[in-house]
Amino acid sequence: MKKIKSIVCLLLFLNCCAFSPVSGGFKTGDSADNVEIQLKAEAESLMTQTNNVSSSSEVAKIWKYVEYLWDKDRRPEAGRYIEAGLTFEPFNYYYQAKLALVLAEQGRNREAYDRAQIVYEKAEDEETVEMILPILKKSLPAQFKSMEAAEFASPTVVLVTMGEVNHLLVLELQQKISEYTGLAVVVFSETGTPPPPDRSFFTSEIRRMRPTILGMPEMVAWLNSHNIATASLATDNELFVKTMQQFLEENNPVAAKGFKTNMDLARLRLQQWSYDSLRDYLVAMAAPHRNEKWLLIGITSYDMYMADTNYVFAGTNPYAQAIISYRRFMSDFNQEPENRKRLLSRLFKQFLSVFGLLNGMTRCTFPDCARVFPRNIAEHDEKPEYLCDECRQTLEKLLKTRIQPKPARR
Ligand SMILES: [Zn+2]
Repeated sequence: MKKIKSIVCLLLFLNCCAFSPVSGGFKTGDSADNVEIQLKAEAESLMTQTNNVSSSSEVAKIWKYVEYLWDKDRRPEAGRYIEAGLTFEPFNYYYQAKLALVLAEQGRNREAYDRAQIVYEKAEDEETVEMILPILKKSLPAQFKSMEAAEFASPTVVLVTMGEVNHLLVLELQQKISEYTGLAVVVFSETGTPPPPDRSFFTSEIRRMRPTILGMPEMVAWLNSHNIATASLATDNELFVKTMQQFLEENNPVAAKGFKTNMDLARLRLQQWSYDSLRDYLVAMAAPHRNEKWLLIGITSYDMYMADTNYVFAGTNPYAQAIISYRRFMSDFNQEPENRKRLLSRLFKQFLSVFGLLNGMTRCTFPDCARVFPRNIAEHDEKPEYLCDECRQTLEKLLKTRIQPKPARR
């Protein structure tokens, strides 16, 4: 039995570096009343402390009860707990949005509007923004047109969304590029399905742990007793996970639940795409439609890398196309408070940087220019949101446009 326990620990360890296993949750047979009593007690145990709540997993106890009340349509009650949660996490815009909705329902329109306005400006998550649009009397941004043939009279920036993207962010980028460069900017959505990730920490972790787990005598015995051949488990990741799931369900159902959640999260989050795969996808998609006036740039939230790098913010083939990934510009990636303006600014600087390369320019080395190479996000943040005079004039000549000069120094 002790040996079984060590296998369970190993399996849960598979990605516990990134995610802690979920706690046991409620036993079946708990009545709805008991569930509520327990959730409420856990939420309120935090609310008596005023400033010692530091970890977000603790505040999650309050959010759990808020979600419970929200599902039951008990919003005014939920509102009280949201306010309590926000004393610990004021930059949680998802719950700021929910509080704005509660305030609006209570007729406290001014307060609802003010909160909704901040959520609109700051939230990087599109669903959060959508919640508060009615309070601001704004509507959803229109979906982008699918990519289609387009003959442009002059060089036109063609942004193509790849995978799931924040539409509001891409619209804001479109507007910023067009105002700054004086060029026409069109946004198309992709017409196909993006390729699967090329790197996955999910699979690399499995590769690392699998020989140990499959080599344990108790696991060998269990596999034999179930007539499961080891050979296929050693090569098929999905089959390995499915079999481990079965093992855990028989030996430790609570661990099985945690394992499943961790695996699902790992699959979703820890993934990377190679620039080459995304580029091939973009090129094939655009081939039937594009002409020489297209300045083709893919926009994606997929984390991207190139051959021998851990990651890249963007990739370019001069005179052909570029792809920008904004994954590493997002607050959740950098453990920062959300700020869509900062996200847009980072994305726009990356556009300027890539746009020069796309048009055949070499790297700039003047530090007061968006086209210098940043080694990390801090250096990227240090760059300005404009081009130096030399880069600007070169691009103006190449594209026959009028780009905004940099602000005058005082
Ligand atoms: Zn420059």
